Amino acid sequence: MTRVLVVEDEPPLVRALEINLKARGFDVDTAPDGAQALRSAAASAPDVVLLDLGLPAMDGIDVIKELRRRNRASILVVSARRTSDEKITALDAGADDYLTKPFSMDELLARLRAAARRTDTAKPSDDAPVIVTETFTLDLAAKKARRDGRDVRLTPTEWHLLEVLVRNSGRLVGRHQLLEEVWGTSQRTQTNYLRVYMAQLRRKLETDPAHPKHFFTAPGMGYRFDP
Ligand code: CA
Repeated sequence: MTRVLVVEDEPPLVRALEINLKARGFDVDTAPDGAQALRSAAASAPDVVLLDLGLPAMDGIDVIKELRRRNRASILVVSARRTSDEKITALDAGADDYLTKPFSMDELLARLRAAARRTDTAKPSDDAPVIVTETFTLDLAAKKARRDGRDVRLTPTEWHLLEVLVRNSGRLVGRHQLLEEVWGTSQRTQTNYLRVYMAQLRRKLETDPAHPKHFFTAPGMGYRFDP
């Protein structure tokens, strides 16, 4: 069963989310602020954290960073703020997806299911290969990335994107295919996600992100990984 931690400080919204998610078979924990969210995440290891960015006390972005350091959960951010800057900041900090308030329950459920799938594929599996390039090493089974002798921390979404590219090594993978595999069918047109995440992968894994040797963009078409 998928366990969701709802981090939200408006009691009526918390109740509505709790009722709807439980009715659809999710296990639900709730936390009204960042500190309690981190305690709850440590105690119950949720698959997905549904995080409102507008929280009292601890800033939502700091909560994302802390969660990311300690937890493998997918983070789905919910916010009333609409600037694309904030969206990018949240994704940069390690969030996996972003939903703007007000949202429909159907849309939320679709995003939650996609987020839960990502957490699943981020779990270690035995038959995944080890990829060695001159710049970095990826152990897909152990979910370990190393560059210049140091561990590189990748988020579940980054691993998922990486896995799709690695599985298709040397071949161009279309933008829509990538979006569908990593974010789900409802997100097929969000090509800005790909720009953000490919930039993160390059920043973390390439020696010179501006002149990538492994992660190539075919403008308007897709991306290719060359070992
Ligand atoms: Ca709030």
